[in-house]
Amino acid sequence: MKGNLLVISGPSGSGKSSLMKEILLEIEDAYFSISSTTRMIREGEEDGVNYHFISKEEFERDIDAGFFLEWAKVHDNYYGTSLKPILKELQKGRLVICDIDVQGHKIAQEKFGHLITSVFVTTPDQKSLQERLIKRGTDSHEVIEKRLDNAVSEMTCIGEYDYVLVNDDFKEASKDLLAIAHASRRKNVFNGYERIY
Ligand code: 5GP
Repeated sequence: MKGNLLVISGPSGSGKSSLMKEILLEIEDAYFSISSTTRMIREGEEDGVNYHFISKEEFERDIDAGFFLEWAKVHDNYYGTSLKPILKELQKGRLVICDIDVQGHKIAQEKFGHLITSVFVTTPDQKSLQERLIKRGTDSHEVIEKRLDNAVSEMTCIGEYDYVLVNDDFKEASKDLLAIAHASRRKNVFNGYERIY
């Protein structure tokens, strides 16, 4: 494998997607892994761009067929990362960027730990996370409450990440994420003594 993996996790509403979008404009050889999900499409999202929006039955068939590098149930919906495109891009030597939750990160570490640089994106506090979710206007009160509860449990995994990014100032945070993405390309992927010439 010549490529590297940049795994980005963090509570829903922490601004991960916007940060990723921003750095993808700056990195030439990066590939964004489009996950599959069974959740409802939100206004402004596009099938095949933000996610592959599929039914629960289709997702479960894909699980059985071994289609996923990892999958998890988050906020009562399935989310999963397809293995094949990632292997293809890693073989090409590209930087694969994945937005996955803390459960998915654990599984990805077991399989590709030597290639992974991981970043946990968060807001300065819980109140600003709540404000962002309300301002986004895409979720019902009940869904927001679920996402906030999930954020609290996700925070307990923060120690498993290489970097923590507090997304307070978007410009600063995207600059930092870009620096981390560049550094992830230099991660030492060699096992002990390896002949590289
Ligand atoms: P949202 O519904 O806000 O787009 O995403 C909800 C959560 O699912 C986020 O924490 C996001 O990181 C996570 N997620 C998105 N894609 C995947 C995936 O392929 N696998 C896993 N495990 N989590 C994902």
